[in-house]
Amino acid sequence: GTPLAVLAAIARIARVGAFVKDGAHLEALSVVDTVVFDKTGTLTRGVPTVTDVRTAPGVSTQQLLAWAGAAEAYSEHPLGRAIAAHVRAAGVAPGTAQSFDYQPGRGVSVEVDGRMISAGNARLVPDAPASAADGVATPVHISVDEHYAGTILLADQVRDSARSVVAELRHRGLRVMMITGDQPATARAVADELGITEVRAGLLPDEKLRAIDAERAAGHRLAMVGDGVNDAPALMRATVGIAMGSGTDIARDSADVVLISSDLNDLAATLHIARRARRIVM
Ligand code: ADP
Ligand code: MG
Repeated sequence: GTPLAVLAAIARIARVGAFVKDGAHLEALSVVDTVVFDKTGTLTRGVPTVTDVRTAPGVSTQQLLAWAGAAEAYSEHPLGRAIAAHVRAAGVAPGTAQSFDYQPGRGVSVEVDGRMISAGNARLVPDAPASAADGVATPVHISVDEHYAGTILLADQVRDSARSVVAELRHRGLRVMMITGDQPATARAVADELGITEVRAGLLPDEKLRAIDAERAAGHRLAMVGDGVNDAPALMRATVGIAMGSGTDIARDSADVVLISSDLNDLAATLHIARRARRIVM
């Protein structure tokens, strides 16, 4: 059976607001030396807002928003939801999509009246001009039948507790990293704001997985904290996978620990309790 001290620690963690799925994960939590954070929806609130809409020559803002709204109508991704809300608020009727193809780490493609509309990053819309993505906002490029049509820029806020939690983890001797599918300039700006020096950006889901594998192969024991579809493989491969309660079903299913109220303070407390329990029993 599970030692009483382990159960007691899990109960204490539960009171903090984190759900540890199995006693074995407590031991894993207690030996972690590196905490790897996803960015969007994990270190940031995941509720971005549109800050600018830039159209290609010959495309009106209304037209671009109609295409973008059609592409993102069924999106569960924070960027997609923000764009859909912006299109609604602008009073633009989005086109109706006949098919929907979500490509994690890239964006979405839909078919509208026989035309292929894509909304995503430069991997999905390769002819987007680099100048469309200057600065720290996250760009979502739109293309129609593979012709660049414009860019919607979005900004997200860091979570209130993120900076202090990063400082606390580092103070306790833990290494802190960020891995993200977002572009390097945006990732770097958020990392600087939070005091994170190790950043890997522009990663596809399987590249996130390989980043985790490489760290583990180097002897590190990792807690991976994430929320998205794109984080699920990495959550499964980390020493301990930790999902945000506000995250996707697949992230919560793939994780060993769930931060129920998505408060990063609960992560710091969870690691602290697990490490103390280790000194007592393990
Ligand atoms: P993160 O690792 O920061 O949580 P994701 O891997 O979920 O980010 O997304 C990485 C990138 O993929 C986004 O920054 C965006 O460029 C693109 N992307 C993902 N989903 C969508 C979407 N629904 N619409 C547009 N772009 C998207
Ligand atoms: Mg995310």
